[in-house]
Amino acid sequence: IYPPHFDIEAVVRPNILSLHPYRCARDDYQSGILLDANENALGHSIPPTASAEEAETFDKLSLNRYPDPMQSEIKTLFANLRGLSSPDQVFLGVGSDEVVDLLMRVCCVPGKDKILICPPTYGMYSVCAQVNDLKVVKVPLETDGGAFQLRMGEIQKAVADDSSIKLIFFCSPGNPTGTLIPLSDIERILEDPNFKGIVIVDEAYIDFSGDDASAVSLVKRYANLCVLQTLSKAFGLAAIRLGFALAQPPLIQVLTNTKAPYNISSLTASLALRALSPEGLVLMHEKVKTLLSSRAALLSALADMKPLGLGDVIGGNHANFVVLPILDKKGGTRPDNGRALQVYKRLAEERGVVIRYRGTEVGCEGCVRITVGAEEENRVLLERLAELLK
Ligand code: PMP
Repeated sequence: IYPPHFDIEAVVRPNILSLHPYRCARDDYQSGILLDANENALGHSIPPTASAEEAETFDKLSLNRYPDPMQSEIKTLFANLRGLSSPDQVFLGVGSDEVVDLLMRVCCVPGKDKILICPPTYGMYSVCAQVNDLKVVKVPLETDGGAFQLRMGEIQKAVADDSSIKLIFFCSPGNPTGTLIPLSDIERILEDPNFKGIVIVDEAYIDFSGDDASAVSLVKRYANLCVLQTLSKAFGLAAIRLGFALAQPPLIQVLTNTKAPYNISSLTASLALRALSPEGLVLMHEKVKTLLSSRAALLSALADMKPLGLGDVIGGNHANFVVLPILDKKGGTRPDNGRALQVYKRLAEERGVVIRYRGTEVGCEGCVRITVGAEEENRVLLERLAELLK
């Protein structure tokens, strides 16, 4: 086990370590006349459709049966895709959001333990912490100059001063910053003997950044690392809710023991298998390529619109969104929260384009976040934004 200061039994709550996971007869026997799980033997009750193909798909999915609790085929495909040696290094969640919550429930004692986050960052870490009655220690990213990098010294001081910090959440590429965290910084925290907990690297947007940016390459070395990924972004499958935790088998086993037995539905599993097939991966890469070139076009069009009162976009360029400061006035110099909020509201209410206001977050004062859309959507956004600002 590496690093030597990490002991999973000291991080995971004792009640979870001693848990007897839910078991059912299907764990032992998967075929035959299935009278073990109180399912409906007469089948599903979806009204017949005109499409024979759809009816056949439903039949194949055995919708009246509980889904496979382990989903080994998806785990194997995803492990291979990400260069991991075994499906035992993969956990499947109902989106990566479920994994965020599960990690907190497994490791942190409500009312006692803490998590550490680096704002501006993804909002669900704080929401889940509050649901689980955990305090949140915040070490903001270095916002000067728009670098949005970790303040290493402050993070290391925080964990040295407070042993109740059990989880550190890094987001790379960051939401909303779009910046990558260098693997060397992540390794320094993983190696820090003062931090006995787990480092979580949320890589929801990793497929929009270059090769070699992913912390998955560190999973084989570090038992205290958990990488989160998802099918919601580059794979374009936000609706099916499938996320991944990638970590060494002991942590994956703890998550597996604790999850709801049938968290991944048969519909989700069957679509995920198609998306992870060779043909699916080709489509995903094509879409990523198109979105990256649309992002470049959007950035250049926004730069041309600066005289209307827009700042230089902030953060990195490693995700499918841009973060844009709205200035106090035409030809102004100061990012302005009031004007940003107004642009956000008026764009949605008067011109039918919904972007996201992020001005309340540290380092994002006066900013809106714009997801890169389809070409025509971007064209309309630019046109209507220009109309508003004129
Ligand atoms: N992490 C980050 C950084 C995100 O931005 C999002 C979605 N906005 C998620 C996780 C949630 O992903 P999922 O759909 O897999 O729950």
